Amino acid sequence: MLTIDGAEGEGGGQVLRTALGLSLVTGKPFLIERIRARRSKPGLQRQHLTAVLAAAEVGGARTEGAELGSQRLFFRPSRLRAGQYRFAIGTAGSTTLVLQTVLPALLMAEGPSTVVIEGGTHNPMAPPFEFVEQAFAPLLHRMGAGLQLTLRRHGFYPAGGGEIVAAIAPAAWQPLEPPERSERPQLRGRILLSDIPHHVAEREASVLRRELGLGADEVQVQPVRAAGPGNVVMLRLQLGTVTEVVTALGERGVAAEDVAGRVVAEARALLAADVPIGEHLADQLLIPLALAGSGSFTTVAPSQHTRTNAQVIEQFLPVRFALQEHSGRPGVWCITVMAAR
Ligand code: ATP
Repeated sequence: MLTIDGAEGEGGGQVLRTALGLSLVTGKPFLIERIRARRSKPGLQRQHLTAVLAAAEVGGARTEGAELGSQRLFFRPSRLRAGQYRFAIGTAGSTTLVLQTVLPALLMAEGPSTVVIEGGTHNPMAPPFEFVEQAFAPLLHRMGAGLQLTLRRHGFYPAGGGEIVAAIAPAAWQPLEPPERSERPQLRGRILLSDIPHHVAEREASVLRRELGLGADEVQVQPVRAAGPGNVVMLRLQLGTVTEVVTALGERGVAAEDVAGRVVAEARALLAADVPIGEHLADQLLIPLALAGSGSFTTVAPSQHTRTNAQVIEQFLPVRFALQEHSGRPGVWCITVMAAR
């Protein structure tokens, strides 16, 4: 049986989610120890526990240690079942990260599924809804997989109360055609706010327009209804054959100008890097690429999330990742997945 050290490498929730997802795909049981051991609140937090319970339901799995705070989990799936599912995190924990857990399995199931997830939709350190919808899902489609997303209610930290729906169709995998970067990326800004003074969003919009040279109608401000206050600044970058979405969340005590400034800085770095795939999309593409069996893309220097995810995937699937810096283009990396020999 596979034993995974949850504190190895990046050592966060992604190690657990990838192990759960690929255990469901392969039917391989696993034991994970030291789950998030070096985090300030170690072990399974609400979002991670929901991911475990969701995976157990989808795969009829037997679990030991599926409790809040647990740093050790045994997981043995029995039978993967497509169908209608509803998972409620119960806090503002990230709905998209729970989706990330069950998605690989439901893409490999024998029929279509619909998954409703309640919790946070725009969280710090997690993919915002629009990132999954506009950046990740279109790449999956190109690889022969079906993922259609709907945002029913926005949910911001700490109130939560959001809801997303994912319609998932089984994949007929094909390798990803290497995405290409266009000469003239197109940028569009969108700022959401719930129960926050309008001038906050207007100041954020001004920063995006001024710093990125966008016209008045190229940045939209959109008030939304949510269970509590929230503010998110999003920038969609049409980079060629790929769309990227860069975001920052408004925070108490952080000036609106600084929130928008984070988006500007991240967007500039991505534009200067002259690659089609940014840091977050890179780590999230590894599982689909591995399920397809081969494929490659160019990106920025791999994050710890990317390196660790590649290592966990290699423990479950018969693939190998190569992460190589381009010889003539410093800072440009090529990530390739191939069958393990
Ligand atoms: P922990 O609290 O243990 O660090 P976690 O369960 O919250 O873990 P991580 O293991 O850190 O999550 O994984 C976070 C995931 O969210 C990664 O796949 C990362 O790429 C993604 N992510 C983080 N920020 C963004 C963002 N701004 N846009 C898109 N994806 C993001």
